[in-house]
Amino acid sequence: MKKVAGVVIAQNKANTPLNILVVGLGLIGGSFAASLRECGENFHLMGFDLSGENIEKAVSLGIVAEGCGDFESAVSRADVIQLSVPMLAMPTVLEQLNGLDLAGKVMTDVGSCKGSLIQAARELFGRVPENLVPGHPIAGSEKSGVTAAKAGLFKNHKVILTPLENTDPEALSLVRYLWYCCGAQVNVMDVQRHDEVLAMTSHLPHLLAFSLVDTLAGNPEHQDIFRYAAGGFRDFTRIAGSDPIMWHDIAMGNSEAILASLDRFSEGLAQLRQAIVEKDSQEVLATFERARSARQHFASMLERRASMAAFDENQ
Ligand code: NAP
Repeated sequence: MKKVAGVVIAQNKANTPLNILVVGLGLIGGSFAASLRECGENFHLMGFDLSGENIEKAVSLGIVAEGCGDFESAVSRADVIQLSVPMLAMPTVLEQLNGLDLAGKVMTDVGSCKGSLIQAARELFGRVPENLVPGHPIAGSEKSGVTAAKAGLFKNHKVILTPLENTDPEALSLVRYLWYCCGAQVNVMDVQRHDEVLAMTSHLPHLLAFSLVDTLAGNPEHQDIFRYAAGGFRDFTRIAGSDPIMWHDIAMGNSEAILASLDRFSEGLAQLRQAIVEKDSQEVLATFERARSARQHFASMLERRASMAAFDENQ
């Protein structure tokens, strides 16, 4: 056994490479594969995707060492299977896996919602398999597809793993180690907490950006609105350029937590609206001041984290 980053890893006695199969060679799957190829460990990166063209690109870009056209035979040779497909395709892939011999293999995923993945696994397998370690990297971009993939995407970013009570601790250690090799910081979190936190910090802001741009674009004078839009509009709406299918899947997959966060936001907005209606300038100003000081606190937290990461890199 060797210990890395406080994690005990079962050492590969024969020194044969660990076969890692990435299913879904897009932004996240491709970046995971590319990061592991670069890290210098004895990993053999295999890639499967619905699209043969994506597989070819992933091989020619050096993202995976081996492109796999046949799912079953790829799974039979894999030690680790990383599911990096869109959220609504996760049940399909789990269904394909169900019935194959998965003994001794570790399955994990990168899906943005964890409750729906776990529910799908429970329905398909009859229980959540011990060797399934649900995960979610808190990194990405508004770009998608294999050509957007890059090694280093997860460096100094958080990855949340949401193991269940029956999750095999060795499977958890191995997945933790793979993310460590990608340069990520791993946190373990309860499934429901993950979905609630992400609904507020990621899903809600994306929904607001999509809705704002859609509402303004529906205005007959939208040409003028967009012509005179300044930096604030551009900053606030950058994430509305994200992949609509991915965000559709997230809105459907984490609907309960998203609705709760939308309700909380709507209450806050209604209060602000009412304060303006009543010309309650104290309340309006107090809202903006509270928000600005919370934003400053958040920005200094991010700065501290960035300078600690730079310090670690220079050691
Ligand atoms: P992406 O760039 O669109 O990549 C998804 C890939 O999976 C595409 O190549 C797609 O092929 C392929 N695919 C679709 N269905 C498949 C199937 N049944 N079997 C095999 N391959 C299949 O998406 P992404 O941004 O990497 O997102 C992947 C996952 O990461 C999602 O679950 C998302 O929630 C999660 N995630 C995304 C981000 C982000 O910022 N993008 C961040 C964290 C987590 P086609 O292109 O031919 O459909």
